[in-house]
This record gives sequence, C-alpha cells and structure tokens, in this order.
Amino acid sequence: MSQSPVKPQTEIFSRGYDPQRSEGAAVPPVFRTSTFLFKNAEEGKRAFEIAYGLSPMKAGESPALIYTRVNNPNSEILEDKARSWDQAEDAALFGSGMGAISSTCLAFLRPGDTLLFADPVYGGTEYLFRHMLPLFGIKTRPFPAGGTQAELEALVAGDPTVKAIYLESPANPTIVLSDIAAARAVADRHATPDRKILVMVDNTFMGPIFCSPLKLGADLVIYSATKFFGGHSDLVAGFTMGSKALMGQVKVFRTILGSIADPDTAWLIHRSLATLQVRMEKQQENAQKLVDFLLTHPAVQDLSYPGLPQMGERQLELWKKQCTGTGSIITFKVKGGEAEAFRVLNAIRHMKLAVSLGGVESLIQHPSSMTHSDMTPAEKLHAGITENMIRVSVGLEDVDDLIADLSLALDQAQVSEPAFDCCGCGGDRGI
Ligand SMILES: *Cc1c(COP(=O)(O)O)cnc(C)c1O
Repeated sequence: MSQSPVKPQTEIFSRGYDPQRSEGAAVPPVFRTSTFLFKNAEEGKRAFEIAYGLSPMKAGESPALIYTRVNNPNSEILEDKARSWDQAEDAALFGSGMGAISSTCLAFLRPGDTLLFADPVYGGTEYLFRHMLPLFGIKTRPFPAGGTQAELEALVAGDPTVKAIYLESPANPTIVLSDIAAARAVADRHATPDRKILVMVDNTFMGPIFCSPLKLGADLVIYSATKFFGGHSDLVAGFTMGSKALMGQVKVFRTILGSIADPDTAWLIHRSLATLQVRMEKQQENAQKLVDFLLTHPAVQDLSYPGLPQMGERQLELWKKQCTGTGSIITFKVKGGEAEAFRVLNAIRHMKLAVSLGGVESLIQHPSSMTHSDMTPAEKLHAGITENMIRVSVGLEDVDDLIADLSLALDQAQVSEPAFDCCGCGGDRGI
C-alpha cells in the first residue's frame, strides 16, 4: 500500500476504507457503538492478545475490533488516511493533543528517566513537563528552542538518564524552529544498545503539509488535531504517528489510559482531511499577505514568522532545511506593553478573540495572559514571551478585510488615552 506512487492528497481518498464492508457506502458511516461482536471465541482471544501487546500482529493479519476505547472503524480509517502525509507506518488517534502528548510520554518514560524539552512549548505541554511528569519520578529539563547541536550535545553527554528529546517546531508562541536532524544525531550518538533516545516532535503548527519530522529523523510526530487537521474549531483531538513498533506501545497506553477520541470526532476529522492541504495553503497565502502588511506598520515590533530573514540567519537556514512552507501562525509585539496589546485585541472586529489556532476563522490572542499564563515571569522572560506579544492564527476570511481590521486596531493601540497632560509628557507615561 505504501508503495503507491500517488501523492497524499490522492491517497487519502482511497486508503483505509473498504466500502464493501459498509453496504457500499461511499463515505464511512459513523460506527457509534461501544462494543463489537466476535465471530467465535478464538477470534476474541486473538484480538485481545494483540490489543494488550501480549503478542505482535502478524503480517497481513486483521484482528477483530473489540471495544471503542481500544479501536473503532472510524478511528482506524482516519488513522490510516491521516498518516499519508508523514508517511508514518502507523498512527494513533487521541481525544486531544494533550491526550496524545501525555499518553505518548507515559508510554516511554519511566521513573529516573529524563526528558529534555525545547523551551517554550504549548502551555499544557509545559505544565505536564514541569509539574506533572516529575510527580512520577520523571525528570524534565528545558533547553532553549532553536539552540545549536553543540548545546544539546552538552546536555545529553554525561547524563545517561536522558530517554527522550522533545521538540515543538515551530515553538508556540515564539515561532522558533528547532533542529530535528541535530536532535536525531545527538540521540543516536548517546544511545546504547539497550537504551534508545527517542526524538518526539510536536508538528501541530506546520504539519503535516509544511514539515515532515519523521523524514527528518524524528521517532514520533505528535499533533493537536484540534488545530489544522480538524480545522473548523468544532472538535478536540490529537495524533501520535511513528513506526509500528513504537505505536504498538503507544496504543497499549492509549487503551488503558482511555485517551482515544470517540467515533463522531474521528468522522469529523475524516471529513476535514480532504480540505486539509487546500486550507493550509490558502491560510498560508493569507498569512503571508498579513505579514507583508505588519512589517510596514510602525506599531509592530519583532514580527515572528517562519522563513523571515528577521528570524536570524540560523533560523532561516533551519527553515529552508526543514519546511516547505511558512504556515499561518504569526506572532508579533505591539509597541508598548499589555495595555497597548489589549487595546489591539479589544478593537479587532473580524478576527475572533480566542485561543486555539488552525481553524478556518482567524483567531487572535495574548499568550502572556492566556495560553502561557501558567508560566512564572522568569520562565516567560526566558522563553521570550512578553506582555506586548500577540499571536494570530490566520483563517480563510478575505485577506483585505483582515488587513483592514488589524490596521485599524493597531492604529488605535497607538492613540493615547484622552490626553491628561499632567507633566508635560504629552500623555506618554500613559497616566
Ligand atoms: C493546541 C496545542 C496542543 C494541545 O492540543 P489539544 O488538542 O488542545 O489538547 C499541543 N501542542 C500545540 C503546539 C498546540 O497548539
């Protein structure tokens, strides 16, 4: 099946679903059932052996379905199609991106192990790593996203407890890319025969269309399917993808932790798959136009967007090496502080003031007080998350309207409150 020369955008229409098993239905029905009937006791026994990892699946074997917490036609069909772009051997659907991240970490990390993670990461991931995994004796250590291979090498060398390197590329919300091939090289250099170091990459912002971490050397790629995969801000889900061997372990943990998505959610993501690539490409086109505008606005500082020369030479090189597009998430700073940023957010009319990203409608938010509010001031400073920072996820509205919207809002931010010129400063002190 994976020998097929067709592109993923074609493959998703045929892979994973056999209409003859569903009365010839052109699209998969929703299998809204909790449990499945076995033809005989032997079939049930074999299905459990595989599901619980007691015995590996044989080539060509198609085990019976058991129970929807383990698997379901809708999740299996979706997994088979969704892995096309990453050319992953196997994929696991989860009830959320955090379900994917937490279940995957628990599948591979044990007390005494260390997880190194590029900082910053998504707020929930940050909390899991800093506050929850340590409760189970798993050590976690941040390192600056976008650091060099030598910096990563220094952390891994001499620490035999390192079991995994976790990257989010680009990082949320700073849009800094991490070097996946460098992480792979470091992981391989310090692995021992009985101790492999896993490279995990959260590819939510770029993937699967504009970056393919597995091809760059990652062992596992993780998605919040809530974002681009779902794409319509109407569901919460996640994916982990990788080799059959690793995913077998992930699926055992998913079954027992109960972190799979329900059949209706799987069906909705399945429906979103056909437009994933066109949505991401059009959203990217809109974002590029919005970036061009933002670069000219006097109230905008430090615009972060993949592939921009302003990101620095190293980041630009990495982008060329790792990405085939720029995506549709933009982060920028407004001249001033939180007050100025809030004035922009409150003046926006067409973009929606909401967290999340990757949907068909544009969303705008304030990382410091919203998605990353659980970080301490020191952690934010370290990660480069400032109070004047704004993150935009660009959707499919007419881009001229989006530009006009942001333009008006930014102009407003720079207008001081009705001048109460207490000290001849012209209101500059913002009193
Ligand atoms: C949203 C997000 C997550 C978490 O996903 P949920 O579906 O909300 O659980 C993880 N990583 C990144 C980069 C995200 O944007």
